[in-house]
Amino acid sequence: MKKHTSTFLLTVILLLAFAMPAAGQSDAEYLLKVSKVIGTNLGSQINGTFKLGIDGDMGVVKSVEYRIDGMAIGTASESPFTLVFKTTDHPAGGHALTAVVTKSDGSSFETPARKFTFITSEDAGEVLNKVLLPILGITFGVVAVMMLMQFVLFRNRPLAQLEPGAPRNYGFKGGAICKNCGRPFALHMWSINLLPTVRYDRCDYCGKWGVQRSASMAALRMAEQLELAKSKPEVPVAEKTEEEKLKEMLDQSKYTR
Ligand SMILES: [Zn+2]
Repeated sequence: MKKHTSTFLLTVILLLAFAMPAAGQSDAEYLLKVSKVIGTNLGSQINGTFKLGIDGDMGVVKSVEYRIDGMAIGTASESPFTLVFKTTDHPAGGHALTAVVTKSDGSSFETPARKFTFITSEDAGEVLNKVLLPILGITFGVVAVMMLMQFVLFRNRPLAQLEPGAPRNYGFKGGAICKNCGRPFALHMWSINLLPTVRYDRCDYCGKWGVQRSASMAALRMAEQLELAKSKPEVPVAEKTEEEKLKEMLDQSKYTR
């Protein structure tokens, strides 16, 4: 047990010892900055127009020569000592970028090299397709799976039984007026947000899925009253013929699935 611990400590010390010189490199007097003007920047894979600059004590800088693979591509002799270049002016592939800073005392310093791969415009488009399209695909896939799960889970859920016109509690998500049956219902926690006020949800009364728009409380209360008005004229009908009863049953069965 003790031996195990000391081996672990030794490993940590060795790791630290190796990490130190690497960390020390960032103590460089000046560092090369690369920023995108127009184009594609996928980590170290770049394409387009980029701006080169330096980080460090700018007060003593006289001029900065920028280099690609050791070859000068331009010199900036005025503050802020930046240079704009196009990756397409250089062969595609891996390149090392550096800046040679000449100070007012005549001494010069070359920044640590930064490695970039210049990609062609076609590759840039292809990489975007490879990266962005799968992300879009996954997003749509997740939404599709969620919808499918809800269909399966709630398919056999009994429809809510509520007296027409009964005031109901619309809760946290508010309510919507069903596009299919016109009855107001409380939006569900599991409804899918399509837009801030538009949800894909299932009506409690007719069981139909649809795009539902959040309604104002006033509109919801009005819809409740409308239910009442709709249901009232049916009450005085005393006796139904067998044919009417059958027709009603058929009508109802249409909405239970
Ligand atoms: Zn409905």
